[in-house]
Amino acid sequence: MFGRREPSDVQALVAQPLANCIHAAGIRVSCRVYTTDEPMLMTPQTPVRMAQVDEVAVITVDNPPVNTISAAVRSGVNEALDAIAKLSGVRAVLLRCEGRTFFSGADINEFSGPPKEAEYRALFARVEALSVPVIAAMHGTVLGGGLEFSLACHYRVAAPGTKFGLPEVTLGVIPGAGGTQRLPRLIGIEKALELIISAKPVETHQALALGFLDEVIDGPLEQGALSYARLLLARGAGPRRTAARTAQALGESILAELRDQAREQYPNRTAALTAIEAVTAGARLPFNDGLLLEERLANDTKLTPECRGSVHVFFAERETRRLLGLPEATPRTIKTAGIVGAGTMGGAIAMCFANAGIPVTVLDAAQDALDRGLGVIDSNYESMVRRGRLAPVDKPKRMALIRASLDYAALASTDVVIEAVFEDLGLKKRIFGVLDQALKPGAILASNTSTLDVTELARATSRPADVIGMHFFSPANVMPLLEVVRTEFTSAETIRTVMDLARTLRKTPVLARVCYGFVGNRMMEGYLREAERMVLEGATPRQVDAVLEQWGMAMGILAVVDMAGVDVGVNVHKANADRYPPDPSYYQADFALVEAGRLGQKNGRGYYRYEPGDRARHDDSEALAIVQARARQLDIVPRAHSEQEILERCLYPLLNEGFRILEEGIVQRASDIDVVWTSGYGFPRYRGGPMFYAETLGLQTLYDGMLKYRDRFGPMHWQPAPLLKQLLTTGKNIAAWEAAR
Ligand code: NAD
Repeated sequence: MFGRREPSDVQALVAQPLANCIHAAGIRVSCRVYTTDEPMLMTPQTPVRMAQVDEVAVITVDNPPVNTISAAVRSGVNEALDAIAKLSGVRAVLLRCEGRTFFSGADINEFSGPPKEAEYRALFARVEALSVPVIAAMHGTVLGGGLEFSLACHYRVAAPGTKFGLPEVTLGVIPGAGGTQRLPRLIGIEKALELIISAKPVETHQALALGFLDEVIDGPLEQGALSYARLLLARGAGPRRTAARTAQALGESILAELRDQAREQYPNRTAALTAIEAVTAGARLPFNDGLLLEERLANDTKLTPECRGSVHVFFAERETRRLLGLPEATPRTIKTAGIVGAGTMGGAIAMCFANAGIPVTVLDAAQDALDRGLGVIDSNYESMVRRGRLAPVDKPKRMALIRASLDYAALASTDVVIEAVFEDLGLKKRIFGVLDQALKPGAILASNTSTLDVTELARATSRPADVIGMHFFSPANVMPLLEVVRTEFTSAETIRTVMDLARTLRKTPVLARVCYGFVGNRMMEGYLREAERMVLEGATPRQVDAVLEQWGMAMGILAVVDMAGVDVGVNVHKANADRYPPDPSYYQADFALVEAGRLGQKNGRGYYRYEPGDRARHDDSEALAIVQARARQLDIVPRAHSEQEILERCLYPLLNEGFRILEEGIVQRASDIDVVWTSGYGFPRYRGGPMFYAETLGLQTLYDGMLKYRDRFGPMHWQPAPLLKQLLTTGKNIAAWEAAR
């Protein structure tokens, strides 16, 4: 599912929604009460305060950065309700949050504790049961538990631009704080399920139309919400309890359609189907029984592999920034940047800086290359404007941050320069020598190389401690992954600066050490080798890709080759021929296609055929004939491949290489490998990434699988990683091995 979305969408969907897996840490803080006549000073730790403004009690939550409904907040709101009960003259309650958003969900730090549904249920029921109208005044991004909280209030108003959503199913869980029971009672089963299954946030006008938002408040929200409350009181409006409503049953045919939609949108997963069960069955039951059903189903979903995998990746992405054993150092400030090479990568990396508000100078060897590069950037921004992803007024602002130059003197005062010229060690070394002369002391010299030894580039300068790899992924302005490659010389200061810079550029950095292909491309090697080899053995590209996509890869690997350019891989393999094992069939399908002029999507012909201006893949007998002719030359006898064989031969070498990378200390931790593959290579998040998946599959199964293919094809490509064997011999899992390291 994630692969079929824009990576930026995936980030947005996955960032908050853990929200609703409601577990607890149990921190307790007090709620301070003050009135307009006698305000009380708050202690900085107190996330909830209450004030009486005339007849309205205002509960304000201030739990930065995103007002998660932590244990402290729950306890504070309960205390505020206790205090309100003792006040006289309160005729309405307003619930609001300080900062950039209303409640964005539950507290992710509570994730590993015991389930807390009952606590949420009790708090929300208490709010809903109040005898005076309760109004939720919302702004920002109201997701998961945040939206569920508002459903327990009697009235809901919001600032313009507020977004609302229940994205839980993308994490393999269902709304577990009453959402599956209250929402259908409020807006009907069908609309509720559409919101839950699509998992996409909706805008205020949609929320109004759907029927869970009463009013949009222009101007200052708190004042507007207070006026709204007074209006309600003037009209004599009382509490309006969602729980007291009933939901109309849905016809079986509509339900069947919704189930089909859930299966299509979330293949290999069950959370969306479980949500349908909770919503439909719950709506037939009395409200409290429905809540108990929801709780049971929500707890079941937390045990599924899809939930465990998604949650693992969620935390793994936060973990990458924790640097193990690195000396403390103050990161340098990055205010300006330079890029050498205005090609595919250079242009897109320049956009990353401009998007972050950092002025960037792009340098190339020739004016036409610069003009072309700037033209591509301009049209990329134009397309973002067309698709509504960038406000028209912002395009000139971003473009104004990007300067072009042919002269290295223009980079003299930049804080960081990223080299993105052709993948040629000699050329890159020369450029690093020139940068060494041109840049101010303390500037960071980075390379976007995919395969070359960054240590060699460091040696080409007089300041190897400032040299580092910054391996962006294409399209660099979209893909979240950044492999940060340290050499033996790179200083802690440089590493920390670049890890911080990644955050500024909204990238997910994974720190790696130098090796051929670093983490992602190194693991890709065996995966791609087997996929291509099976085409030589007679499988069709569609057959191979279909198995991989059905399993969950965002795109089949042979379609990826077409997209990246078949020639790109061939050039890398030619340049590195001496690194590979003496296998005459090694990448020969690619070589044969390129020799026949099939370069992939860029000329409409690769493993598949493409129509001009269209990326849809068409089977092409010509491609098959070319590969089969090469197979005959190599004496490869065609045969049939089962789906199981395709999957195993593609995945096992990929997983196995991960164990080598881990053992060699190329990455800090196994979960970093998972992040590389889920955020850079379309590995399904719900399978947790390759290392997590290896354990789901079973290390013994992986090991036995490697031996099975070793027996069949020989040891050249099928040696189990030593660490895999060691884990099996010692009975340890990856976490235990890491802890003992
Ligand atoms: P590209 O061919 O699109 O662009 C290279 C640019 O470098 C061109 O504009 C060229 O004019 C310029 N250039 C060449 N020699 C130069 C010189 N002496 N001085 C200044 N500029 C010079 O290549 P690309 O795909 O953008 O790749 C650039 C780098 O990024 C390579 O190291 C590649 O391995 C790496 N990379 C590429 C991808 C990808 O998917 N394309 C992904 C990750 C990393």
